[in-house]
Amino acid sequence: MTVRTTRQLGAVLEAVNLRRDHPTAQEVYARVRQRLPRISRGTVYRNLSKLQQQRQIRIVRLAGRPARYDAVVHEHDHFVCEGCSAVEDLVTGNGRHPGAVDLRASGYVLRRRSITYFGLCPRCALCAKEG
Ligand SMILES: [Zn+2]
Repeated sequence: MTVRTTRQLGAVLEAVNLRRDHPTAQEVYARVRQRLPRISRGTVYRNLSKLQQQRQIRIVRLAGRPARYDAVVHEHDHFVCEGCSAVEDLVTGNGRHPGAVDLRASGYVLRRRSITYFGLCPRCALCAKEG
């Protein structure tokens, strides 16, 4: 890899990592451009898929919403606020997966789990109550 491609890849990774707020590809592009104003959208998107292949980031697919990118690559759940559209990480504690035992007993082979909760974050819930 050239110095330039390494720098571009690093800038994309940093843009995802920076605030842990699960940015969309469009948001990553906007952030990277603040540092590398001449980078193209295609380069940013290519680097996002390269980082994903290298398992340095992962993609969070949310039904009916643009995909988000996540710098936390171990298995974890998400909460999507329908008020402010924030996507937050949920800590899964002891790693027990409800329902997994039943699925295994029925002959399913579980490879990964991804649970997304939808609702209102505490801040939006407060606004809804007051409003
Ligand atoms: Zn996450």
